[in-house]
Amino acid sequence: MKNAPKAKFAAYRKLLEKKADEVRRSMSAQKAAQVVSRLDVPSDEGDLSQQHHEEWIFLNRNTLDMKLLREVGDALHRIDTGSYGVCMECDEPISAKRLDAVPWARYCITCQEEIAARIAHGERVDEYQEADR
Ligand SMILES: [Zn+2]
Repeated sequence: MKNAPKAKFAAYRKLLEKKADEVRRSMSAQKAAQVVSRLDVPSDEGDLSQQHHEEWIFLNRNTLDMKLLREVGDALHRIDTGSYGVCMECDEPISAKRLDAVPWARYCITCQEEIAARIAHGERVDEYQEADR
């Protein structure tokens, strides 16, 4: 593809693949931990709301992981299609510094901040928020 040879992004591909692996692993570890804690908890009525709460946290966490996994997968796909490292909003290249920090970034820092501000103002955007890690 144009001026972005895939080799240029080989290091990011590695990072992304590693990240996807990590997320998948943490997801199954959480799942296992949840099953174990379930077996441990006596089905006392008092524990029920606590259990629901934990379940909610787990689901929430899981949703974030799913989202991150999707972002990472999308980024890998963009490497394949040659659109990786280019802001999807303004078509400017995303800085290497930013890609180093967030290899699955799809917007340059300027656009990302704009989008974040729009979300903060309650505007409904086809939202994309980077997971904070
Ligand atoms: Zn941009």
